[in-house]
Amino acid sequence: MNKTEAYLAVDKKHIWHPYTSMTDPMGVYMVKKAEGVHIHLADGRVLTDGMSSWWAAIHGYNHPVLNQAIHEQTQNMSHVMFGGLTHEPACTLAEKLISVVPQGLGHIFFSDSGSVAVEVAIKMAIQYQYALGKPGKKKLLTVKKGYHGDTFAAMGVCDPVQGMHGLFKGILPEAIFAQAPQCSFFHAWDEADTAEIESLMAERHGEIAAVILEPVVQGAGGMRFYHPNYLKQLGSLCRRYDILLIFDEIATGFGRTGKLFAARWAGICPDIMCIGKALTGGYISFAATLATPKVARGISSDGGVFMHGPTYMGNPLACAVANAGLDLLMTGEWQTQVAAIQRLLDEHLSPARILTGVKDVRVLGAIGVIELEEAVDMPVIQEMFVRAGVWIRPFGRLVYTMPPYVCKKEDVVKIAKTMCEVVKAYLKRR
Ligand code: PMP
Repeated sequence: MNKTEAYLAVDKKHIWHPYTSMTDPMGVYMVKKAEGVHIHLADGRVLTDGMSSWWAAIHGYNHPVLNQAIHEQTQNMSHVMFGGLTHEPACTLAEKLISVVPQGLGHIFFSDSGSVAVEVAIKMAIQYQYALGKPGKKKLLTVKKGYHGDTFAAMGVCDPVQGMHGLFKGILPEAIFAQAPQCSFFHAWDEADTAEIESLMAERHGEIAAVILEPVVQGAGGMRFYHPNYLKQLGSLCRRYDILLIFDEIATGFGRTGKLFAARWAGICPDIMCIGKALTGGYISFAATLATPKVARGISSDGGVFMHGPTYMGNPLACAVANAGLDLLMTGEWQTQVAAIQRLLDEHLSPARILTGVKDVRVLGAIGVIELEEAVDMPVIQEMFVRAGVWIRPFGRLVYTMPPYVCKKEDVVKIAKTMCEVVKAYLKRR
């Protein structure tokens, strides 16, 4: 047994991977290093990365500027508790983020992961209503086909069918679900799209603290791109019914959809917004929940404090790498990069449209999706991608890519062409 085989044996024996069985796990590939847009496997194969490690590594791996930022920060302090203490990296990051998110979000809560940022947002909304003397307003309203993370309150607002509602019935907080937005991003807006959610708001606003949804792109719940006017209309309904609006920008934030934040497609500012993933350029798990002064002050209006405080809150290493990543973004180059990726994905994914077994092909910003008629056989299609030298991780009926922004033209073309070829070969063999 060589070293790689020995590690893989340890992995198989002891380590859980995302959404896998412990007794019958899918195979995993051993990574030796990742550099730029390439993942180097221990067996010598080099894969072009089509996933940005789940939306995060937008600047590519092993980036000298990000490496330096984190290295320099270790020379000062890697961490100090945030209760009673603060530091320059957190203050700098707060100011930077507040200057780039939709205007109006002036308060920030740092946490450790996207799911926790969603928990924090939900807590904020409930505490806000409570502090304002409306303790009955404690339910969440959301749309189907959403995904917000794997912790309990977050799971409660994930799609009720695809999510884990069945498994944790009776334990998950029960949210109110409206149908998913139907009007596509690419089609004419139909005002009737918000009719159902509006009637739920009209009927049940006395028990609803907030609406939570992913703006414009529903990610893990189906990679659906819906019309920004849905958000505009929802925003005014929220004001009418005294319901807070929460945007989960954990996947869509930092340029992925072609705007710095997807909220900008609708030109509105939510009351609360969650960010994560690309915040540290894929270096460390880190997230934040931002709130307007109305929400932040409201929570404390009865003299109350906000009840959350993770051990690694405001971690200086994470803040330092986030600061460096934001500086890279603020050069504005991402706009050219994302626009170029969009054009190339549009052109080179479109041959998949005519394949029997393909339901839809769609591209928005640096996100490209081939939606199949039926769910894929994951281990089979995964191995086909690895053999073709591209890292794509399909799920369900979706074969999709969100490459690092720093991909060169030939990388994007390779990713898109490989997606078409693999899908074609996969469908043929069935
Ligand atoms: N919200 C959205 C929209 C996400 O895509 C994700 C992660 N896939 C989360 C929340 C949860 O983030 P994390 O995995 O960092 O907990």
